[in-house]
Amino acid sequence: MDYPLKITLQAFASDLIKEAERLSGMDPASCMQCGMCTGGCPLAYEMDYSPRQILRLLQLGLINEALNSRAIWLCLTCETCTARCPREIDLAKVMSSLREMAITQKIEPAEKDILIFHRSFLELIKRGGRLFELGLVGLYKLRSRRLFQDLFLAPAMLRRGKLQFIPRKMKGQDKVARIFTKIEKQ
Ligand code: SF4
Ligand code: SF4
Repeated sequence: MDYPLKITLQAFASDLIKEAERLSGMDPASCMQCGMCTGGCPLAYEMDYSPRQILRLLQLGLINEALNSRAIWLCLTCETCTARCPREIDLAKVMSSLREMAITQKIEPAEKDILIFHRSFLELIKRGGRLFELGLVGLYKLRSRRLFQDLFLAPAMLRRGKLQFIPRKMKGQDKVARIFTKIEKQ
């Protein structure tokens, strides 16, 4: 009797795959599984599925495994994989599309507190047009209540000029905010 349910779930998964393709503008079928993306990814060693394997999951229609993975939340959007791909697959964009889909589907991120970090990061970009690192640290720590975690790193970061006390202004800040508002409306 679970056969109709299985068909429904498969149809749902294939709708999600189409949605992932639409959002990222990429066709997972064009991936030839060469592994160049994984070879350059600075976070692959921490991921449950490597970037190449995420593409493989999509090829196999296993979208729920991809949406529930730690990998999509650990991705830094550094675009190394995108630059290395011989098939010109923008894997960084695929990863961020999967993150957005996981949020829409109300899937709890596999990495604790990472959604707080993700939202704080986007909020600061929306407000200032660029990242204000100290603001990000403060917002994340307040919201996650991890006030003292990694605090010992602060002096070294300050010495190396990695943390600015005042956010730097940038040209076109209002345009960035408008882009966010437009996307939020969509
Ligand atoms: S580099 Fe491109 S083609 Fe090769 S495995 Fe990664 S996504 Fe697929
Ligand atoms: S964009 Fe993400 S998946 Fe690609 S190399 Fe960077 S961290 Fe890895």
